[in-house]
Amino acid sequence: MKLDEIKVIRESLLTKVVKLSNKADILKDAQYKSLFEELKIIPKDQKAHFGKELNSLKNELSSIIQRENNLEKENNQPIDVSAPFDDNQNEDSIKLLDQRFGSIHPVSTEIKIITDIFSSIGFKVIESLEIDDDFHMFESLNFATDHPARDDFDTFITVQKDQTNKPYVAPAHTSTMQTRVLSQNRDNLVKNNQDIGYIIPGRVFRNEDVDARHEHTFYQIEGVYLSKKVTVANLLSVLRDFMSSYFNEEIKIKTQPVYFPFTEPSFEFSVNCIYCAQKGCHICSYTGWIEMLGCGMIHPNVLSIAGIDPSKYNGFAFGLGILRFIMIKYGIEDIRHYHSVRLEFLRQFK
Ligand SMILES: [Zn+2]
Repeated sequence: MKLDEIKVIRESLLTKVVKLSNKADILKDAQYKSLFEELKIIPKDQKAHFGKELNSLKNELSSIIQRENNLEKENNQPIDVSAPFDDNQNEDSIKLLDQRFGSIHPVSTEIKIITDIFSSIGFKVIESLEIDDDFHMFESLNFATDHPARDDFDTFITVQKDQTNKPYVAPAHTSTMQTRVLSQNRDNLVKNNQDIGYIIPGRVFRNEDVDARHEHTFYQIEGVYLSKKVTVANLLSVLRDFMSSYFNEEIKIKTQPVYFPFTEPSFEFSVNCIYCAQKGCHICSYTGWIEMLGCGMIHPNVLSIAGIDPSKYNGFAFGLGILRFIMIKYGIEDIRHYHSVRLEFLRQFK
């Protein structure tokens, strides 16, 4: 091959590559491959010049292929499929919603942190249901049909009815899962002496007027533990150790009695304010204490409904509001931020 022939082949290959739908196919072209065969047999004195020409051609073809790849990537920009339709129609919004800038929602992150702490001390994790029945929402939790405490939960109900002709409900608390985990694990408890320990995160709903402290849709984590000879001291020490792990410092605790139909005795559980060393600040409403959750020993009636003998077994349950925990942990002032889809709020948690 004469040296100037490579120039002709070069032009021919550059014309071919333009027409190819997949530019990388040019690398398989017989004419292109023949140049490398030629390089092996070309006289020594021409080798350097030929090699240089071939190298320059190779680079040019590579950059054409690269340009095509980049263009393909741009055309296949990742978009947020959960975003409103109009946003993804707008070219600027596609850039704004590029998934590379996304992050895990703070509620998901904190659920993971909280469930991990309880998993580390042996609790199993399951999720609660987002539609349940009257039995699990009220009856199995020791609310009689005409129990006034039913009114405390302004519960959303469905048009569809269950087998007992009562409407299904959007659960107002994760306690709906208590009887389920107790009855499902009853045989294992009785036959194998295996304690029941569950941590149950879930989304719950109440017909609330929305303001800085109240949401109609929020998240709870239920804890249920059942064994023999369980005491209030066990309940409080588990919760105190959990709080100390979660807030990463030694926590002081305070309880005061309260009424729940499904636990007896029942407590409001507070921790020392970690922001003001208990001197009083706006987060603790100048009391030095922050109320964190409700808890208590599982009511004997709840155990009986779950088919468990309350004279042999006992245990505790607690329910905590995750949004409240995150608000306290990060000093968030308004509960409405969580569902606001405000990117400047969410990006703080990246
Ligand atoms: Zn304080």
